[in-house]
Amino acid sequence: MFDTLSDRLTSVLQNLRGKGKLSDADIDATAREIRIALLEADVALPVVRAFIGHVKERAKGAEVSEALNPAQQVVKIVNEELVAILGGETRRLNLAKNPPTVIMLAGLQGSGKTTLAGKLALWLKKQGHAPLLVACDLQRPNAVTQLQVVGERAGVPTFAPEPGNGVGDPVDVARRSVDEAKRAQHDVVVVDTAGRLGVDEEMMRQAADIRDVVQPDETLFVVDAMIGQDAVTTAEAFRDGVGFSGVVLTKLDGDARGGAALSVRHVTGQPILFASNGEKLEDFDVFHPDRMASRILG
Ligand code: GDP
Repeated sequence: MFDTLSDRLTSVLQNLRGKGKLSDADIDATAREIRIALLEADVALPVVRAFIGHVKERAKGAEVSEALNPAQQVVKIVNEELVAILGGETRRLNLAKNPPTVIMLAGLQGSGKTTLAGKLALWLKKQGHAPLLVACDLQRPNAVTQLQVVGERAGVPTFAPEPGNGVGDPVDVARRSVDEAKRAQHDVVVVDTAGRLGVDEEMMRQAADIRDVVQPDETLFVVDAMIGQDAVTTAEAFRDGVGFSGVVLTKLDGDARGGAALSVRHVTGQPILFASNGEKLEDFDVFHPDRMASRILG
């Protein structure tokens, strides 16, 4: 991901090298090139506008540095604005003062929620927590089994409806899981919820009902970074329908253009907490805006 964007930005910025002083026309031309590169990478238009506006204003402003030549100065500004668009500081997971901390996962089917639940459980375990996975995706056939499988791989138990009792009520499962966590001394509960292929009202209502019952400390919106511009509309629908406190980007290992990753923070106002970059449980990490910006700028 980001290979093309990365190449484009690097070459645009390289064109500035060797120039002594940058005229406003140089800066405008550079900004235009960056704008095209971002749009071609599928970055949402409002994000591109804000980004270019800041870069231009700062590059034309009186930011004169003794240590950097004008071209380096522009690179520095672009880097800092990329970090800002990605959220600035690394945002840590919010843990409850009185455990269990409840983390609810929401997102479209196929976004990587169930896989993420396993990754998060393993990560939490390595951090010294005792997580409990909760199967509230009772819509998709096999979702419960899939969660149990990733749970086993992570060495974390899964709370699921008893087999043989019909499909079960996800809201009831969610409610009982918190009692189970207290009883068995799990300090973090990770609730996997149902997704659909597209946003639909019933899914939103169910997620909202689960949210009301478990009162999550974090609701993480899980989004496939490969879905391009659709990521923005999906994020907006989840923000309005369920609300979320953070974002997890999945499939960053793909070869899509990556605009979703660059847009979702700015568009939703919520920070990106984690990133997934592969199918293995270890392919997962805390999201660091500064590292991602450095990666994009090559
Ligand atoms: P859910 O429907 O939201 O629960 O999605 P799943 O967890 O079942 O994931 C859907 C598919 O995406 C599965 O085939 C996963 O193996 C795959 N997947 C999940 N996360 C990643 C990732 O970060 N990278 C890649 N390449 N594949 C992923």
